[in-house]
Amino acid sequence: MITKNLQTLHSDIPHNVQLIAVSKTKPFSDIQVAYDAGQRDFGENKVQELVEKSLILPTDIRWHLIGHLQTNKVKYIAPFVHLIHAVDSIKLLKEINKQAKKHERNINCLLQFHIAQENTKFGLSLLEAKEIVNSPDFLQLENVKIYGVMGMASFISDQEAITNEFKKLKEIFSELKLTCFLSNENFNEISMGMSGDYDLAIQEGSTMIRVGSKIFGHRNY
Ligand SMILES: *Cc1c(COP(=O)(O)O)cnc(C)c1O
Repeated sequence: MITKNLQTLHSDIPHNVQLIAVSKTKPFSDIQVAYDAGQRDFGENKVQELVEKSLILPTDIRWHLIGHLQTNKVKYIAPFVHLIHAVDSIKLLKEINKQAKKHERNINCLLQFHIAQENTKFGLSLLEAKEIVNSPDFLQLENVKIYGVMGMASFISDQEAITNEFKKLKEIFSELKLTCFLSNENFNEISMGMSGDYDLAIQEGSTMIRVGSKIFGHRNY
């Protein structure tokens, strides 16, 4: 099933859109099946689970942390993580930079924005992001590479409302690119779209979709 689902997805999405297979709660064996089908980018939302899986599974997997990251847990993923999707404070950026330096590597990050109607405490506003990017501390982050933005739409069925939230993230991306990241050639990614809404996200300019249940089936928490 997993192999078939991946094939279907790939025939459905444009080549310039990257597919992150979200494997949270799923066993090693499921990830191995997807790997054997050619999938190399996997997303997890918990640090401990990400670390455990990275130790067992093939070392050329690119691991994406897509969930909220606590400052005190950066050290566990710093040696190997490929992209951190949900960065939303200068404090976290400073810790990522410190740990990246320790491991003599750069760590790629996306800034997470709050675009949904729901009241979650995660994600920046455009104003907050500009404050971070224009702060003196930001210039010192030599081992952090900012690759773009990430957001999650509301869990609702109103397609127009979801589309508007994705439009908002695209606008934030364009505004930041023009005002803060014009000389940063890495700043190109818009991580938006999940199993239920990736088609809308792609229409609105997503470059990276994070798809779990459409590949691995429903999750039992
Ligand atoms: C779980 C999760 C996904 C994937 O969700 P599906 O609906 O199973 O595709 C994508 N992004 C984040 C941040 C997640 O936590």
